Formats: sequence, structure tokens, C-alpha cells
Amino acid sequence: MQEILFESACPYVECINNNTKYTWRHHNCGGNEKLNRMGDLRCLKCGSCAPMVDWKFDCGNHGFQRGSYQGYKHLCMIMISIADTEDEIEFAQNLSFNVIPKWKREGKFNN
Ligand SMILES: [Zn+2]
Ligand SMILES: [Zn+2]
Repeated sequence: MQEILFESACPYVECINNNTKYTWRHHNCGGNEKLNRMGDLRCLKCGSCAPMVDWKFDCGNHGFQRGSYQGYKHLCMIMISIADTEDEIEFAQNLSFNVIPKWKREGKFNN
């Protein structure tokens, strides 16, 4: 399945870093993270793989936090603004219009 390197802002909506681009790394092993079209994040080093909505994120500003619906929508806008390729834009649009609303319907967000 096609994947892109996961680079975007922090999905914790109250974070002051939610306009800052990060190349996210898996805390447990330091591996880079890849994102697929289903919204799954996969660590390139240890192979951990789960829907992004189930991961917790720490940009260094607040300890580990789950992303919120608003945070993920914002993250997609940042992904589009920093995208280098059409693929990356298409991924972010798919995430924003299909995957995140699906997570919302499934009750994945607390807020
Ligand atoms: Zn890992
Ligand atoms: Zn943050």
C-alpha cells in the first residue's frame, strides 16, 4: 500500500506548536513514521502500525496527548500547506474528507 512520510503539525488542538512542521518519530524506537491512505501510521523501524487516531503525540510541549477532531482537521491543512508533491496533497485531502469524518462517526474522538 502506498505510504508517505508523516510530516505535519501537532494534532493536539491546544498545542502552541500546531502550526509547526514536524517529522514525527516513534517514541519507543526513534523510527520515522509512514502514513497510508487509510490513516494508519506505521513505524519504519519496529513495524508498529495503528490508525493515527489511536496514537498519542508529544511535540515536546505537553506530554503524550491524543489528537482531537479539530486538531486532525488542522493537521490536514498544515500537511497541504507544506506538501511537496500532488500525492501528499491528495493524501491530506483524503484524510480530511474521508478518513477523519469516518473516525468521527465511529466515536473515536473524545472532543
Ligand atoms: Zn517504532
Ligand atoms: Zn504539541
